[in-house]
Amino acid sequence: MRDHLYIDGRWVKPARLQTFAVLEPSTGALLHNAPAATAEDVDAAVLAARAAFDTGGWPQRSGAERAGYLRAIAAGIRARVAELARLEVLDNGKPLPEATWDVEDAAYCFDYYAGLAEELDAAEPEAVALPDARFRCTVVREPMGVVGAIIPWNYPLLMAAWKVAPALAAGCTVVLKPSELTPLTALELAAIAHEAGVPAGVLNVVTGIGADAGQPLTAHAGVDKLAFTGSVPTGSKVMAAAARDIKKVSLELGGKSPFLVFDDSDIERAVEWILFGIFWNQGQVCSATSRVLVQRRLYGPLLARLVAEARKIRIGQGLEAGVLLGPLVSADQRAKVDAAVQQAVADGARVACGGQRPPGLDQGYYYEPTVLVDVPLHSAAWTEEIFGPVVCVRAFDDEVGAIQLANDSRFGLAAAVMSANDARCERVAAALRAGIVWINCSQPTFAEAPWGGYKQSGIGRELGRWGLANYLEVKQITRFTDDKPWGWYIKSS
Ligand code: NAD
Repeated sequence: MRDHLYIDGRWVKPARLQTFAVLEPSTGALLHNAPAATAEDVDAAVLAARAAFDTGGWPQRSGAERAGYLRAIAAGIRARVAELARLEVLDNGKPLPEATWDVEDAAYCFDYYAGLAEELDAAEPEAVALPDARFRCTVVREPMGVVGAIIPWNYPLLMAAWKVAPALAAGCTVVLKPSELTPLTALELAAIAHEAGVPAGVLNVVTGIGADAGQPLTAHAGVDKLAFTGSVPTGSKVMAAAARDIKKVSLELGGKSPFLVFDDSDIERAVEWILFGIFWNQGQVCSATSRVLVQRRLYGPLLARLVAEARKIRIGQGLEAGVLLGPLVSADQRAKVDAAVQQAVADGARVACGGQRPPGLDQGYYYEPTVLVDVPLHSAAWTEEIFGPVVCVRAFDDEVGAIQLANDSRFGLAAAVMSANDARCERVAAALRAGIVWINCSQPTFAEAPWGGYKQSGIGRELGRWGLANYLEVKQITRFTDDKPWGWYIKSS
């Protein structure tokens, strides 16, 4: 575990020589004292990224050259999958199979954007037809500049990959600020990039507290683009900071995603996808399908099967074999989840299962898989993101009513629909106001497909070509090609 920041290709102590405690979620014990960056360090990192962009030649390198670095990073991650996955478990609490999945996904993300970087070389300037034949216009795409990337704790390495890979592929340089709850693998990513020979200043990693390291990054005049993933309140602050000097900004925020299950669905399949949609990563997933709407005829039997399966989920420390649910990330997060459940009960909801610390797990931030029913529509448990292993299940009568309920949210990140009737699935998918809609499944995510939300779930899209476009400016070059002068002020005689 590292105790230096990575700035300008070197490992440096934070300017104020401060650290912050990183705790292990399964015990609450101290895992590491991580280096705490402050405004001075952020300034040094931005200046390094600025120099790498302005005079270091990174944007001028061919896409193929940048792809070479990205593939080397992917290979570096793959060579250390077991070690990185273990670190992620200790830092975040998630079960080892999930952490392994995430780390492999992060490597895939670097390889995928290597491919898109290569494609940039082949991209011809796009000709734009103009109504005036005296002009000829083409459009090219260029890197935006220095990116300030701020990420959350739920997928520490993967969220870093989602931002760093497309930004470097596009020709941008990056200052990455991971969450203070899970800073460890971002520093390893810096080490892997260093070993891959990524030039100094192209990727900088500053670990630190949001207010001390994140805020100065959002306020720094040397940053051209802010790419943020996290909560709505912080996203709002990031956007306000960006507004001051009109930085480009993309935001991936929270959700309260619905899952509509029609009564022609197979119950076992529905239950499996509901479990996957809400208990993977302890429900600490922005796209978690946390509101399940079940057509009335299926409601009773489905609820019974869901509760039976939720009770069977093996809970424990993420490194233990067979564990499918680890502790939540922090004591605070656990307290927030418990408070949300208690409030739901006070509002009139009923706990069908869970709602407490699992027996026998007295230490750490554990919470049982929880199913809430009869949650009033005004209750925060129905309207607000809980970001924990808590699902609200509710009956609906018809398609129109279900769509209304599903769309009645200030969020619009994801939604899912399940039915044996394909036409109905397509119809409902079209009506759902969300950036991601899953049919007959929930959560599978691919680097090739766009990721992002409607409404308060964010601005812009990550992943796929959209993720690359997130870091590219559009430039028109328009040429005056006529033999005759323009002749507005100076009239030819
Ligand atoms: P958070 O908003 O508390 O923190 C996110 C990051 O912002 C952290 O690195 C934090 O240090 C930093 N930060 C805090 N205050 C800051 C400030 N004033 N200025 C700049 N940076 C600051 O979110 P979190 O608790 O880490 O993550 C959970 C949230 O993230 C949930 O709401 C979840 O839905 C969302 N999320 C969204 C996606 C998505 O793709 N849409 C993915 C993962 C998580």
